[in-house]
Amino acid sequence: MPRSVSELLAQQGGAAPKLRFVSKKEREAHRDKEKQAEAAAEAERLQRTKDARRAWEGQAAATSTSEAAGAPNKRAATPSEQDTPEPSDDGGSDAIRQRYLGARPDRARKVRRSNDPAKRFQFEWDQTEDTTDPHQLALAESVQTPVLAGRAGLEGSERHGGRRSVLKSTLDEKHWTEKPLSEMKERDWRIFREDYGIAVKGGAIPPPLRSWRESSIPAPVLDAIAEIGYKEPSPVQRQAIPIGLERRDLIGIAETGSGKTASFVIPMLAYVAELPRLDEANAHLGPYALILSPTRELAQQIEAEARKLVTRLGISVVSVVGGRDITEQAFHLQRGAEIVIATPGRLKDLLEQRIVMLGQCHYLVMDEADRMVDMNYEAELDYILSNLPRDATESRERRVTMLYSATMPPYVEKIARTYLTRPATVLIGNAGQAVGTVDQQVEFVAGEEKRKARLLAVLDSGLPPPMIVFVNQKSTADQIGRELRRAGWRVAVLHSGLSQTQREASIASLREGRNEVLCCTDIGARGIDLPDVSLVVNYQFPTNFPSYIHRIGRTGRAGKAGRAVTFVDDDDAEHLFALKQEVAKSPVSKVPMELARHPAAQAPPAAARGA
Ligand code: ADP
Ligand code: MG
Repeated sequence: MPRSVSELLAQQGGAAPKLRFVSKKEREAHRDKEKQAEAAAEAERLQRTKDARRAWEGQAAATSTSEAAGAPNKRAATPSEQDTPEPSDDGGSDAIRQRYLGARPDRARKVRRSNDPAKRFQFEWDQTEDTTDPHQLALAESVQTPVLAGRAGLEGSERHGGRRSVLKSTLDEKHWTEKPLSEMKERDWRIFREDYGIAVKGGAIPPPLRSWRESSIPAPVLDAIAEIGYKEPSPVQRQAIPIGLERRDLIGIAETGSGKTASFVIPMLAYVAELPRLDEANAHLGPYALILSPTRELAQQIEAEARKLVTRLGISVVSVVGGRDITEQAFHLQRGAEIVIATPGRLKDLLEQRIVMLGQCHYLVMDEADRMVDMNYEAELDYILSNLPRDATESRERRVTMLYSATMPPYVEKIARTYLTRPATVLIGNAGQAVGTVDQQVEFVAGEEKRKARLLAVLDSGLPPPMIVFVNQKSTADQIGRELRRAGWRVAVLHSGLSQTQREASIASLREGRNEVLCCTDIGARGIDLPDVSLVVNYQFPTNFPSYIHRIGRTGRAGKAGRAVTFVDDDDAEHLFALKQEVAKSPVSKVPMELARHPAAQAPPAAARGA
């Protein structure tokens, strides 16, 4: 049950919003200004927004079909695909995300997931979890300007100097697909990573690949990629390849079928291509690069993928796996193989028999590390690793070590800690979300008036700010924003019709507690970074299902409980099946009877089934 407002305020201590009701006059002045701003360039902006959206949606659709089958780009998944992912995997990757990416340990520890239905709807907001920085609070107080408080952006643009920001905004309106590489800003990269579900950790991470063309992959490899027919890099390839090309250690976490092989083989080839080919003089020293794989089948798949990519480089690739004639493998190794792909057991045998050496191997990939551990290969791994050159003092260079895994249990973590040096971590998944902690509520609401009434009631349920209300159109965002202000809420509006400066000011006003509610469209909300959102309301169901996932992922981050309330009606029929599946998958949500029984929620839409 929601707690009373006073309880929550008390709990939040100083972070409580400074409730301030705006007078009628203020509100009218407010509204007039807003109307003027709105009218300006509305049509032109609308068009541009549409174009950008279309470009992006086209991109996302293309991604889902042309990329590796089953690439975990949930944004591009069709409703019929939504039901297939194994729930255990989802939970696992959330846990990994919390552990590896950003969830501060003190917060992660406080995840309290209750199975008790009575507690299910309680928003767990612990005073000790309150992250409001007292400094920020003081700032928020001092910045509060009576008339403009609550204005989306205006005060921001004034503070930043109006004219320049207009110019700047025209530039920033462009979606990343329309920008040359040189114009990409931090925010563009953030949106880009969101689009592809890429999360990263570990110091300065190079920007992901927008296309094969824009990368520094050696030309012969690029030619091979074109020949194979990989039109676009997959998400894991986009981020792992640039890191690999910097020769950094890397932890890659992405599910099966996401194109991990090429993501480590390509930088490996770039590395090996710069070294002299092996010949009689140095072949006996062993390979330059080694890929370890838990099973024979996987090793052979990696070999096949690597062979496709090396065709133009004259690099030889040999796999040494159990169950095959050891003398034949020894023969191939002795002729010289720059790249060796091996299962740990067989490689250990070969090392012990001194058939192979690893004295010049400065590049190691452990693929499917979790499975290697499951198969009890830890001792073999230790043995193999002890045969590799140790560090820069022993040889002319530092070893590059990469570890790929679908999950990150503690023993894999231990391997990573033992053998990797300051690794970059790349995690591919659900657009950077932790939706497992979001209590998803769905309400059937018929008619605009009821919708508004429910919105007010839901906002009034006692959750702490910031809260986000999502709508589908810019004009609706403005309109709902106005209505909420009329009802006494301090609201910032965010959509693509606002300049970059205004958008930033909107976000800042929420972050600093000057506003309580953000009323925004999907496009407006893209790339925003607003922590600790307690509630997301989908005033309208988004026009495409992946946006739903994206929206609700604004709350429930970093292991905190979050609530998402979604209004639907019969017009949303095409999404109800997927919605039901999604809610059912959530460990903290309950499918309401009306959704469970809705005719449109019984099977995927016909179009999707036929596809
Ligand atoms: P993982 O190791 O993540 O399970 P793989 O590397 O085995 O995935 O790749 C899965 C499949 O996707 C392979 O058949 C591979 O040839 C294909 N693939 C890899 N990268 C791309 C790409 N950029 N575009 C299209 N197909 C790709
Ligand atoms: Mg693989």
